[in-house]
Amino acid sequence: MISSLVAGGSVLAQNIKFNEYFDDGTLRINYHRIGNRQYDTVQVQSHECIPNWAGSLTQLVDPFDNGAYRIVVKDPHSGCELYSRGYNSLFQEYRDTPQGADSIAVFQEVVRVPWPKRPVNICFQKRGSDQLMYTQFSYRFDPDSAMTLLRRQSWLRLETTPVQLQYKGDPHKKVDVVIVPEGYGPADSLKMIRDMHLFCNYLLGQEPFRSRADDFNVWGVPLMGEASGITDPGKGIRVNSLVGSSYNTFGADRYLMTMQLFKLHNAIGSTPFDHIIIMANSTTYGGGAIYNFYAMSSLNQMAYVVLPHELGHSIGGLADEYVDEDLSYGDIHLLDQEPIEPNITTLVDFASKWQSMLPVGTPVPTPPDNSVPRGKNGPLGVYEGAGYHSKGIYRPTMRCMMRDYAPFCPVCSHRLNLIFDLYVK
Ligand SMILES: [Zn+2]
Repeated sequence: MISSLVAGGSVLAQNIKFNEYFDDGTLRINYHRIGNRQYDTVQVQSHECIPNWAGSLTQLVDPFDNGAYRIVVKDPHSGCELYSRGYNSLFQEYRDTPQGADSIAVFQEVVRVPWPKRPVNICFQKRGSDQLMYTQFSYRFDPDSAMTLLRRQSWLRLETTPVQLQYKGDPHKKVDVVIVPEGYGPADSLKMIRDMHLFCNYLLGQEPFRSRADDFNVWGVPLMGEASGITDPGKGIRVNSLVGSSYNTFGADRYLMTMQLFKLHNAIGSTPFDHIIIMANSTTYGGGAIYNFYAMSSLNQMAYVVLPHELGHSIGGLADEYVDEDLSYGDIHLLDQEPIEPNITTLVDFASKWQSMLPVGTPVPTPPDNSVPRGKNGPLGVYEGAGYHSKGIYRPTMRCMMRDYAPFCPVCSHRLNLIFDLYVK
């Protein structure tokens, strides 16, 4: 396989007319990412046609250089980038575990792009060690021949009538979030609907989400599994739940995730969505999230802050601002490079981060101020200790949602607002 340097990005998002290239539908690509720390490869498994597109009709090219991966739709004639989105995946975290050093694993992944009117090139890109994006795998997708091959019944099979938890208007101009209930059994239907409303409130309960609540549609998928509860290998609990979630992902007790992405997207069906929340019916503390992948939280009493923290990852592409030396192994953040996430810096290229937001005279780095009370950010600065490392990585404020469940700091809030803007234009 030959890797090639990304040539895209020359066409501005507003120059691409959605209707010229795309129909109001979604091409869902189900694929496997296979590999380990040394290499990985993409194998497309199947395509689905979903009869609506929830994303913006004008903001087609991703303006943020974030995520370890990027899906790009290109015009085969001009080579122009017609649609793109950066994202992360669970594989990337597997790669940094001890077994990921040499054992090969297969991970399900799903990407969604607007349904093309004519043949397009679909490019799977991966960030190299120099932080540039390289095409890892690409192929021609012809919508006409695909439709003859696609099982037509998939249009029907994907039909799930979602619950409207909050509807504020046309999905093309809203941030559409879908809540997938996990770990609810046949006897839990009333609790499930009640919990969905609770999660809708948690989603919109913290700034900057609260001020932007009118920019959100929130949907619920009214599906139940065979039994109540969530798989927790540490406690010997195994449940055949709707989307196969489990605590103890990669050996971390509180890391609650699912690897069954195909099941997850099948459950969502044709519900219009830009972002996924998996709501786990368990009172055990836990959650997890990956950028443009999904966010998950249990119904623990901390969920009102755990969920916004996880949405900081899944919607905002924000890094953790806390220190955890157990997680600082591997190359999660290389200290001699500027990290790609907007809310942490190694000071290698601080001008690309929040330097312009700093009050004049702020020392860089900024001495820690341990008098900042819990629940407050404290002044904007450049404080050492972030991205799991106690040394060499810096964060914008003493406290933040991405560190210790304080409100989102100004840098994190700024990025979230820019992302919300993308969906409402
Ligand atoms: Zn922050």
